[in-house]
Amino acid sequence: MIEQRRMEGGKMKHPKSVKRILLGIVALVCALSFSTQATSAPDTEIAKEKTFVLEWLSQPQTIEQFGLISDAIWSYAELGMQEFKSSALLADTLEKAGFTVERGMAGMPTCFVATYGSGKPVIGLLGEFDALPMLSQKGRVPKQDPVLAGAPGHGCGHNTMCTAAAAAAIAVKKAMDKYGFEGTIKVFGSPAEETLISRPYMIRAGLFEGVDAVIDNHSGSGFSTSYGKGGNAMFSSVFAFKGKTSHGASPWNAISALDAVELMDVATNFLREHLFYTYRMHYVIKEGGEAPNVVPDRASVWYYIRNSDERVEEMYAKVINCAKAAALATGAELEEIRCYSAVHQRHANKAAAELMQKNIELVGMPDWTEEEHVYARALQKELGEEEKGMPTEMSEISDSSRHFVGGGSSDVGDVTLIAPTATIRFPGQVPGAIGHHWSTVSANYGSTAWKGLNAGAKAIAASAIDMLTRPEELKKLRDEFEEYSKKFPYKPFLPENAEPPVELNRELMDKWRPLMEKYYLEHE
Ligand SMILES: [Zn+2]
Repeated sequence: MIEQRRMEGGKMKHPKSVKRILLGIVALVCALSFSTQATSAPDTEIAKEKTFVLEWLSQPQTIEQFGLISDAIWSYAELGMQEFKSSALLADTLEKAGFTVERGMAGMPTCFVATYGSGKPVIGLLGEFDALPMLSQKGRVPKQDPVLAGAPGHGCGHNTMCTAAAAAAIAVKKAMDKYGFEGTIKVFGSPAEETLISRPYMIRAGLFEGVDAVIDNHSGSGFSTSYGKGGNAMFSSVFAFKGKTSHGASPWNAISALDAVELMDVATNFLREHLFYTYRMHYVIKEGGEAPNVVPDRASVWYYIRNSDERVEEMYAKVINCAKAAALATGAELEEIRCYSAVHQRHANKAAAELMQKNIELVGMPDWTEEEHVYARALQKELGEEEKGMPTEMSEISDSSRHFVGGGSSDVGDVTLIAPTATIRFPGQVPGAIGHHWSTVSANYGSTAWKGLNAGAKAIAASAIDMLTRPEELKKLRDEFEEYSKKFPYKPFLPENAEPPVELNRELMDKWRPLMEKYYLEHE
């Protein structure tokens, strides 16, 4: 229930469906503790600051507070650049906890930076909160059943992610207050990760200046981290053509802008054969006319152009040539190439990942109830996956550069090149659920999401405590980073004249937000 799930007078109200889940959660929070299934002891005694943050995060009211925030953001399901309610809920929560919050950063209304403490070291936590289009799905229903067919949904778990970072940051702040250690903790509220937009602009605006290390997080079904190079670099650009309109049945003097888009797509599809196999390329036609009997004088196509850091710029230049060739062939004008964003591959810091892995093992996989396993098995059955329930095994640290890196991208890539960074992947999702798919939306709501994000928050907070209180550990990260950045100094792919596309998804959210709010009001 959207409106009522907001924090009101310090208390968060929620609808009956959430109350039902809460009844189950009362039992689970009592069972949760930071050593549920710890697989190995840390190599030194656990510092009092770390014990404190883990205990604070284990409190039932803490788990409930951030669980409800996650569920609220899940129900808002706001697309990138339009995350007004999600961003405000997180920023307000941090502000109420004593952080100084700067909003509307780097030219993006939903970007915020929350800061607490003073002096060195400065530790940054990344947090995402955007949803994906067309994935609407009822929470914890193990078959496709949209809340509103065609509406957005949280198909990547981002509802849990900035929430976990905020919980961790507040825990660290409380430890700072209690034990009085020096340092600064920052939460970088990062919009539009699904369209890879915010981080290059945030770096360009200087938001990460002086940050000594960064802890990223992502929701998943395992509890793990990795180091090394991963993912693909990417340019996200819209190619817009201008033609000349006329009656579709007498088009002799017209120029179809749609013809230019189609010819460009034919050219790029022939280009594929000659691209190095690490590439990925996909597009959607954004504008292609509205009726066959009116020659479209405007058409545009949105491309994701992905390859390794070494190859992506050359590939982008070839795609631009395809656009120019299509304009020449049709007589249309290539009016604009609007680069929304451009990102590097990730290069996660090994020392940071090793530090995080110890804390992941200290926290351990959450204990899942039989009801949670039953739900997970039902979802797995529906998807034709092995019916093994929620995960119980921990993963070992992995070297991501050993794997084929083709595929996805993340704007965290640029952050890894300006500060030592690694990602804590925390549980909560169902193994076998498909990313960017209704099955992941279903699984990211309610008790498993609450437990997963809580485990993630603990690993993030414990890692931040290590970085803030153990200078010799932070030095390992810094030394590795300095060495790497001497060889690969950061040079943004983002064109200097690029501006964040703040209008992105506005029409879609203007359409869906009131309908979703109405739905939740009626289904209280
Ligand atoms: Zn994601």
